[in-house]
Amino acid sequence: MVRAIVGANWGDEGKGKITDMLAKESDIIIRFQGGSNAGHTIINEYGKFALHLLPSGVFYSHTTSIIGNGVALNIPYLIHEIQSLVDRGVPTPRILVSDRAQILMPYHVLFDTCEEARLAGKSFGSTKSGIAPFYSDKYAKIGFQVSELFDEETLKEKVERVCELKNVMLVHLYHQPKIDPAELLNTLHEYRDMIAPYVCDVSAYLAEAIREGKNILLEGQLGSLKDPDHGIYPMVTSSSTLAAFGAIGAGIPPYEIKNITAVVKAYSSAVGAGAFVSEIFGDEADELRRRGGDGGEFGATTGRPRRMGWFDAVATRYGCRIQGATEAVLTVLDVLGYLDELPVCVGYEIDGVVTKDFLTTVKLEKAKPVYVKLPGWKCEIRGIKKYEDLPENCRNYIEFIEKEIETPITMVSNGPGRDEIIYRNR
Ligand code: GDP
Repeated sequence: MVRAIVGANWGDEGKGKITDMLAKESDIIIRFQGGSNAGHTIINEYGKFALHLLPSGVFYSHTTSIIGNGVALNIPYLIHEIQSLVDRGVPTPRILVSDRAQILMPYHVLFDTCEEARLAGKSFGSTKSGIAPFYSDKYAKIGFQVSELFDEETLKEKVERVCELKNVMLVHLYHQPKIDPAELLNTLHEYRDMIAPYVCDVSAYLAEAIREGKNILLEGQLGSLKDPDHGIYPMVTSSSTLAAFGAIGAGIPPYEIKNITAVVKAYSSAVGAGAFVSEIFGDEADELRRRGGDGGEFGATTGRPRRMGWFDAVATRYGCRIQGATEAVLTVLDVLGYLDELPVCVGYEIDGVVTKDFLTTVKLEKAKPVYVKLPGWKCEIRGIKKYEDLPENCRNYIEFIEKEIETPITMVSNGPGRDEIIYRNR
């Protein structure tokens, strides 16, 4: 059975925790898109970890962790991340990397940094991990596939060809020194030696695993609203964040994805610029940011303070629909126990007209939130194990959201730990 765990919001919904939790019952966990630009925070018996490139299933010795072909593979970063787990006592994980994954090159980081500097105030708020230049090159067909590292002639010829093009931009647009093709080739030889032990024909491996009835998890990065097609373009990420892309980014048939679990956050947070209708500011935002997540809402990769907002039912219903969510997990609900009342955004007012639809970016920029206020529960809900034991106002909040997002909420997360989860008997 293949299950996708994906974000229905702007990312940072707590997918890492849910994947780590569900990985206990799984055989294989796959990252299918994105790169080391976002982080998953996981707390388990080994400690607290911020994973960037590895799937969140790496902490169990019975699982195989896969970097799919859809990922932007930063090879030194991957090796460093594996080592840092082992150094902290995690058993050496079993990792496979697709021979069709493409390599994030050192110059992708350089181009990302130079372009952000060039755009100055109008920048996209990139994490400068090289992700946008990486995907641009992939689709411009000048990327390097892992398999190409193992064919010296192809590699050498391609390095020279690509450097020619990159150097024109470096010198004339960004006023930077040229890339030396010989040096780059050396770096790629180092990358080849580092990655060789992990390389695998992943789609063939997965076809066999599916035949054997293995439990497979696809772990998404970011969320629906950061998808380049269906999100808040252009303030999006550069690869699809949707479960549907899991089939492509892992190399499996789309109809094998039987369960799509959308992770939904009990309030809103977002990093980077872009339309965010239910955003809040000032002291109200500071308080939620300080109390939010596990130790505050700050980016796992960049440490940037996240933008904060009330729960947005319009965006989340859309986020679940576009994911094709079969169920939802509501996370970080415990954080909201301090509030007297909880505003929920149930509509967008655009030029005097209220809509419940999540519209295209130009229209969203003009939208104002329409709120319904629900009473707070004013107590700590961490430690509660049964749905019936949650305070009534808390259950009302969950059930109100469930109705609005038109997706069954099957689990409620009431703390960052692996076991802090309430299953709903439905
Ligand atoms: P991801 O990228 O979707 O995995 O999300 P992040 O890891 O960036 O952000 C989620 C943050 O919330 C992390 O610090 C988690 O440890 C924390 N977290 C996850 N679930 C819960 C929860 O139910 N309650 C609390 N308080 N924190 C949670």
